Amino acid sequence: MDFSTIKANLEKKGYAVSVFENGTSAAQYLADKIKNTTVGIGGSMTARQMNLFEILSAENDVNWHWQLKEGQSAAQAYAGARNAAVYISSVNGISEKGEIINIDGTGNRVAETIYNHEKVYLLVGKNKIAPDFEKAMWRARNIASPKNAQRIGVATPCAAKGDKCYDCNSPARICRAFLTFMEKPNGCNCEVVLINEELGY
Ligand code: SF4
Repeated sequence: MDFSTIKANLEKKGYAVSVFENGTSAAQYLADKIKNTTVGIGGSMTARQMNLFEILSAENDVNWHWQLKEGQSAAQAYAGARNAAVYISSVNGISEKGEIINIDGTGNRVAETIYNHEKVYLLVGKNKIAPDFEKAMWRARNIASPKNAQRIGVATPCAAKGDKCYDCNSPARICRAFLTFMEKPNGCNCEVVLINEELGY
């Protein structure tokens, strides 16, 4: 995939941008950049597929509520991620123009990407890229969210079929906060990591 257009558009919006052929080389880049510090990771199949917890834990204190350390509670993992110097998340959708969309149920992931950390990395597998904002939002709502609902096994109509969003009002609804970065937030030292491989949902 040719990332030149999206890379240029993201740079115009103020992001640092790095490009990799696959998740392995992107993970190696992050391991080289992130050393002797604290790291938080948001719920992310991309991060899991890249083995980021294991790779970054070699030289950092990594906090991830998906992978608790021995004796660590989920609340401690959330707090560790919230207070970390570096935060890593993937995205649910991104347009060629560089609008970045994330949908969250608890709100920790969207909150942590926008403010508070010294450095934020946003991981983008090529499957997350859509031609425009409407299609990026469509894929975030109708592909990423139903697949995540299925993975978690919640009692929502999308989890039953995995085919689309039903805009449910289920108590188990996982889509509760939508965050779009139209431009890079002013306080965010944010780098977008484009990866030429299908990763995550
Ligand atoms: S709003 Fe409801 S139906 Fe739509 S993706 Fe989210 S959980 Fe599924």
